Amino acid sequence: MSDPYQNAMKQIDKIAKIINLDPDIKERLSEPDRVLTVAIPVKMDNGKIKVFTGFRSQYNNARGPYKGGIRYHQNVSLSEVKALSAWMTWKCSVAGIPYGGGKGGIIVNPKELSIGELERLSRGYIRAIWQFIGSDVDVPAPDVNTTSQIMAWMVDEYAKLTGKLDLAVITAKPLEIGGSQGRTEATGQGGVYVLEALAKEFKLKPSATKIAVQGFGNVGYYFALLAQKAGFKIVALSDSRGGIYSEKGFDVETVKKYKKETGKIQDFKGAKNITNDELLELPVTILVPAALESVITKDNAPKIKTKLIIEMANGPITPEADVILHDKKVLFVPDVLSNSGGVTVSYFEWVQNRMGYYWTKEEVFNKLKPIMVNAFKEGLTAARKYNIDMRMGVYSLAVQKVADAMKLKGI
Ligand code: GLU
Repeated sequence: MSDPYQNAMKQIDKIAKIINLDPDIKERLSEPDRVLTVAIPVKMDNGKIKVFTGFRSQYNNARGPYKGGIRYHQNVSLSEVKALSAWMTWKCSVAGIPYGGGKGGIIVNPKELSIGELERLSRGYIRAIWQFIGSDVDVPAPDVNTTSQIMAWMVDEYAKLTGKLDLAVITAKPLEIGGSQGRTEATGQGGVYVLEALAKEFKLKPSATKIAVQGFGNVGYYFALLAQKAGFKIVALSDSRGGIYSEKGFDVETVKKYKKETGKIQDFKGAKNITNDELLELPVTILVPAALESVITKDNAPKIKTKLIIEMANGPITPEADVILHDKKVLFVPDVLSNSGGVTVSYFEWVQNRMGYYWTKEEVFNKLKPIMVNAFKEGLTAARKYNIDMRMGVYSLAVQKVADAMKLKGI
């Protein structure tokens, strides 16, 4: 299994050569500014205390407060959280929003907790890190397996600890308590704006464009749903237990209903069951990994049959696989660009909280669309100019902006 933080640093090594990065800046970017490891004691329903381990990595704040989600997963590790915090830094830079990058995580399988245990764990995490976050310091949000309900508990716990309500300390809250219109589907919607720009660029007719989406969480589900609504054909879907394939294409809402009823998406009527690995190797027009990192590696990259990939997960392609895919002339739109719709609408939420004035969903998406489309065009132009893959094209712009900010402030 490749090490996520090492992968994030390999990417910096590569980009440093392309943009001629100041060696002092590169050295400074080798470690996050601050990494917290905390013990979170939780009273379980059986009356016993169980200690969970949590992390928060604050990678860089040259462009603004640290920003990034909190992940609940049994495989969370310090290396993963550190890598994700670096990727958030580039993501906020690509989107042009005034933040640095951070990320948090707890080693837990939330599906094994009761709702009460989940609430106590989430409040406990904030009790452990509250002195290191704040709307001008570090602004958490959801990530894999964390929801707007969890954000609600967290913002409430923070208010109890500080004695005042600071809504902008956490984003992707429920609408009732200062959330933004459109935040729930923002990551998926942002990805679909990128998909449409990509289709336009490569002259693809939506109804003839077959898409395979890996992952059916908040990101994968909304991406598939909104892509289908935009006229594209979703021929493969999967969740963590496995996938389904249908040449005819799926009605995503019906699959969602089926998953709600049965707890799975496999054995869906009229579809063929496939594994998550098989999904990645399908001969589709566009492949969309929207689950976890490092799913396309040097081992399966040679077997990838698509020519276009939109990364909706964070870090789904390893650096070794990047090289193989680029050689095979596969174009991949990098995560920090294609899934930046979520954090961009988080930024809109933060702005609205600070103004105390709220926008309609239409206003939110009218502001999001040009950001996504411009970032796509700029990234593609940079990649073509230097004859590099699109990740490097996008990173060359993103890292340069962070480096410029660091230089102005002094390292
Ligand atoms: N977890 C999301 C991401 O990886 C959103 C982060 C945020 O809204 O701060 O981009």
